[in-house]
Amino acid sequence: MGVMGGTFDPIHHGHLVAASEVQARFDLDEVVFVPTGKPWQKAHSAVSSAEHRYLMTVVATASNPRFTVSRVDIDRGGPTYTIDTLRDLHAQRPDDELFFITGADALAQILSWKDIEELWELGHFIGVTRPGYHLSESGLPQDRVTLQEVPAMAISSTDCRARVADGEPVWYLVPDGVVQYISKYQLYTDDRK
Ligand code: ATP
Ligand code: MG
Repeated sequence: MGVMGGTFDPIHHGHLVAASEVQARFDLDEVVFVPTGKPWQKAHSAVSSAEHRYLMTVVATASNPRFTVSRVDIDRGGPTYTIDTLRDLHAQRPDDELFFITGADALAQILSWKDIEELWELGHFIGVTRPGYHLSESGLPQDRVTLQEVPAMAISSTDCRARVADGEPVWYLVPDGVVQYISKYQLYTDDRK
């Protein structure tokens, strides 16, 4: 089982391509997208409500039979730590092998994550390339981390939010349903919903 954690504010094609590539390479049965509760790294910035981020993730992944969405981080409440995500998923599916997917930027910070030693025991880590970031496994245990090149998608949620705020299009950066969802609920305009 692949695990794709993220703020998904909004989910975009960079997330979806990374998940699809890792699913194919490791022949995973399923990739679970896990929208964060309040991300601890983003404690000081405004993040859209968990329900909006959850629903956009559902909309974006609905057409892929191997993609699902989990509410574990949203329903736990409080700041999200990956160790809790993996513990909860492991408790739900004790027989499944977990492959945690992270972009190059997140992988570079992994040593600062909570309970790092237990993290290595709970799953494999797949670090994927991301434009603008250097993908490296230095300092990380080689038997737990695999690096994977994925098609370069120079897309970030930060840029998508800025585009919407500036009245610029996000078509083809995010799935069509997400474009429509953002517009329907007027996300990323003036007041953060
Ligand atoms: P923000 O700009 O708000 O931080 P983001 O685009 O970085 O948003 P996140 O939800 O923070 O998206 O990222 C979730 C995971 O997806 C992280 O592991 C991140 O590295 C990875 N990721 C995000 N965008 C890409 C991309 N374009 N290519 C590869 N991996 C990505
Ligand atoms: Mg990010």
